[in-house]
Amino acid sequence: MELLKGKVAVVTGGARGIGRAICLRLAEMGADVAVNYRKDSEELEALIKEIEGKGVRAFKAQGDVSIFEDAKNMINKVNEFFGSVDILVNNAGITKDGLLLRMKEEDFDKVIQVNLKGVFNCTRHVSPIMIKQRSGKIVNISSVVGISGNAGQVNYSAAKAGIIGVTKSVAKELASRGITVNAVAPGFIKTSMTEVLPEKSKNATLSTIPLKRFGMPEDVANVVCFLASPQADYVTGQVINVDGGMLM
Ligand code: NDP
Repeated sequence: MELLKGKVAVVTGGARGIGRAICLRLAEMGADVAVNYRKDSEELEALIKEIEGKGVRAFKAQGDVSIFEDAKNMINKVNEFFGSVDILVNNAGITKDGLLLRMKEEDFDKVIQVNLKGVFNCTRHVSPIMIKQRSGKIVNISSVVGISGNAGQVNYSAAKAGIIGVTKSVAKELASRGITVNAVAPGFIKTSMTEVLPEKSKNATLSTIPLKRFGMPEDVANVVCFLASPQADYVTGQVINVDGGMLM
């Protein structure tokens, strides 16, 4: 079912991991897709071809979301290329884990700058376009640790909790303009972000997941694309956990 036919979507940090799965799912649902990335790569080129192979248009949207002007230029280029921006998925994120007593100031600042300020930057610049259109869907990728907290992730959990605040505030500001804003809070998803974790910590996490498996990027993509579709027209300001029941 091509629920998103004729819609234009931007996915930040879209070239790999969860972002890549979101780009492909959006394309399958009929949307034209702008893939935001920082540096060109073979992975990105392959993804662009794969998106086009699904019969929709793809656009390479370079820019570091943590930089206000970069985010502005990136969103405006997508708008110029496609003529609209209907869906924004704020997915780009990084981790710089460490216990509070050892966490460097720059590691706190960097994670906030990319994960939280990046969401503000892109949302700030897409909102005039969506307000003019009187429609739009914004989906932010938070995390279960933004709700529960996590030892070793003061910076990351603060950013992810902040994203929930941004989601609810912007949802309230933009509802009257036909724009919905929601967040998805993934649990443990198999990507390069979690690959680097020690085996012991992965096993400890697995034992807390009622569905007894780690999530796949596609598990997150399905929920994101539901929220980006007309099927979720009456849903705004919500946070949906995609975590195998880890946090109830
Ligand atoms: P990956 O590390 O696989 O991918 C992260 C993506 O973000 C990459 O494409 C990366 O691009 C991009 N990115 C990082 N910094 C910037 C920036 N400044 N500007 C633009 N793009 C940037 O991670 P995941 O796919 O696992 O994570 C995707 C999102 O999901 C993140 O927000 C993460 O916090 C969240 N999440 C992930 C979970 C998991 O278990 N994996 C759990 C909960 C939330 P580049 O190639 O240039 O580095």
